[in-house]
Amino acid sequence: MELRFAIKIPNTAKSNLRLTYFILIDYNCAFLLFPYSNKLHKFIPIMSILEINVYPDPILKRVAKKIIDIDDSIKQLAKDMFETMYQAPGVGLAAPQVGHSISLVVADPASNDDPPNPMVLVNPTIIAGEGETTIVEGCLSVPGFSAEISRYQKIVIRALTLDAEELELTLEDFPAIVIQHEIDHLQGKLFIDRISRLKRNIFERKLKKGTLA
Ligand SMILES: [Zn+2]
Repeated sequence: MELRFAIKIPNTAKSNLRLTYFILIDYNCAFLLFPYSNKLHKFIPIMSILEINVYPDPILKRVAKKIIDIDDSIKQLAKDMFETMYQAPGVGLAAPQVGHSISLVVADPASNDDPPNPMVLVNPTIIAGEGETTIVEGCLSVPGFSAEISRYQKIVIRALTLDAEELELTLEDFPAIVIQHEIDHLQGKLFIDRISRLKRNIFERKLKKGTLA
């Protein structure tokens, strides 16, 4: 039998991470996992759910910096972003949304019937796009609002993996849409920057009044 309690402790260093620590109670043994007890980390991973910045946080308007060195902090950030995205739940997350203005995206654009398709993209760029498709999009950084957005139906992207290997991917339909949305975040662009002036005014009015659904 195992009981789990989650304690959220604000992390004062470096970033706005909220780390979740677990106390495990197993029959007659109980122990607390401290952040720097490396031996225990090997057996029980510590989950980190990151705080998602929402509009109009200025970091969402900034162009993200390219990642030069894919060190352990980037790999940990990617893991934490996955956990944050799955918990939200969402299908994609860009680093600026969690307070890091760097060119990193995680996504899992598999549809409900398909197996998970997690992707990590470092410094992704769209090198070709064709066709047109529209879908009603939402965003974890713009809660309570959605709008139909027109995007390329098919894209070719270049990026690095977390092992610094070059990657070229051709994506179509939903995965292509998700990745275009996330790459927009790296350019300081939100889906609400792609809607008509009229719809944008409606959004801003609802935001001011606090009436976003
Ligand atoms: Zn978004």
